[in-house]
Amino acid sequence: MERPNAWKDYTEEQLDQLHYLCEGYKAFISENKTERECCAAAVAMAEEAGYVSLESRIEEGRRLVPGDKVYAVNRDKTLMLLQLGTEPLEAGVNILGAHVDSPRLDVKQDPVDEKNELATLDTHYYGGVKKYQWVAMPLAIHGVVAKKDGTVVSVVIGEDDDDPVFCITDLLPHLASEQMGKKATEVIEGEMLDVLVGNRPIVVKEGEKDGDAEKSPVKAGVLGILRDLLDIEEEDLLSAELEVVPAGAARDLGLDRSMILGYGQDDRVCAYTSLVAQLDAEAPARTAVTLLVDKEEIGSVGATGMTSRFFENTMAEVLELAGETGPLALRRCLANSNMLSSDVSAGFDPTFASVFEPKNSCYLGHGLTFNKYTGARGKSGSNDADAEYLATIRRVMDEGGVHFQTAELGKVDAGGGGTIAYILATYGMNVVDCGVPVLSMHAPWEATSKADVYEAYRGYQEFLKLA
Ligand code: MN
Ligand code: MN
Repeated sequence: MERPNAWKDYTEEQLDQLHYLCEGYKAFISENKTERECCAAAVAMAEEAGYVSLESRIEEGRRLVPGDKVYAVNRDKTLMLLQLGTEPLEAGVNILGAHVDSPRLDVKQDPVDEKNELATLDTHYYGGVKKYQWVAMPLAIHGVVAKKDGTVVSVVIGEDDDDPVFCITDLLPHLASEQMGKKATEVIEGEMLDVLVGNRPIVVKEGEKDGDAEKSPVKAGVLGILRDLLDIEEEDLLSAELEVVPAGAARDLGLDRSMILGYGQDDRVCAYTSLVAQLDAEAPARTAVTLLVDKEEIGSVGATGMTSRFFENTMAEVLELAGETGPLALRRCLANSNMLSSDVSAGFDPTFASVFEPKNSCYLGHGLTFNKYTGARGKSGSNDADAEYLATIRRVMDEGGVHFQTAELGKVDAGGGGTIAYILATYGMNVVDCGVPVLSMHAPWEATSKADVYEAYRGYQEFLKLA
């Protein structure tokens, strides 16, 4: 069953919409490279669109009515947006979900080191990365340093044209005969992911005594710069979240500019398009909900991951404020809900054709991809959506003229992956995995098709109209 290429059908007006959406998307992923940055930017966009914080509504004690738009933030990393529909919440809501954390290198708690007058930051990688991909390329540092006095210092170094950047060194080919014979998992090992941050020793003036600076003069120089730049001491790094990410903006990819090359498209491509669809939704019958969550890449754990009670607790607050009180109303609302659990899919790559089954693969430019199931080794860990729910989704997409395709993540037993779908499914709601096809997933620079970004947005819009 062949699915058509979306590019062949577009009107001039649709091409304009596609261009506008993708320009916004490129700016979003260029400026926002951590879950916190994505969350803050999404809140700003939501407020612009008339959303107010749920917290403030609870304080005012003002009842929620159809048309109201509220948002709730969890620890600056997870965001939930709701536009109240005309139908009771108990009848269920329509939920778009995606994650805003991406694979990267996290700076360790005691990170600063100096060896042979090279100062480095130790890192521990986050999510599934091929370590050899992260060397010999410009890197930036984004994140926060929380100080004992309660202040939180934001850090972004390496993105402005006149900012310095950082890198992890690789071995020259001339001396790499042993390295080149190693397995890819061993070419660059975890403890080799040291980010180069300095090479200039400070000069200790004659008569002055500074043991630390004499022992590690380059490190002392680096710490001095951090003190001047950010007003932090080395000990403050004990309570920091600093993420090392590829430096630079997302770009058009290809002579025809049909694709986007950018960092963190897993899963900000689904997060951004879900967010824009939510903000653009007009007076839905069922309440429209968008969930942007953290920690998916390490198993949806922790207070800001999908397995935390934040979603359920926030729904309980919303029901209470909408006058639908009692625990049963919440249970019914959750069980009667529909969800699109969005995460990127592995686009068919002819260079690596052997890991795909061509009929059940997704192709760049062929639209939003639905995965009935994900998982590995006999669908293990998968949500495996109902046939009936998939039929509903097919109807909605076809009626809306949305280009969609269906796929598995690679051929049987080639590997596998998980998403947040199974977690929401525990409430008994309808959930199906979907998302945008990506090439080079989890690499520092990932590739998507602009047509798929646009079709994801269109698909989410149609889904939110589902009665
Ligand atoms: Mn993902
Ligand atoms: Mn991923």
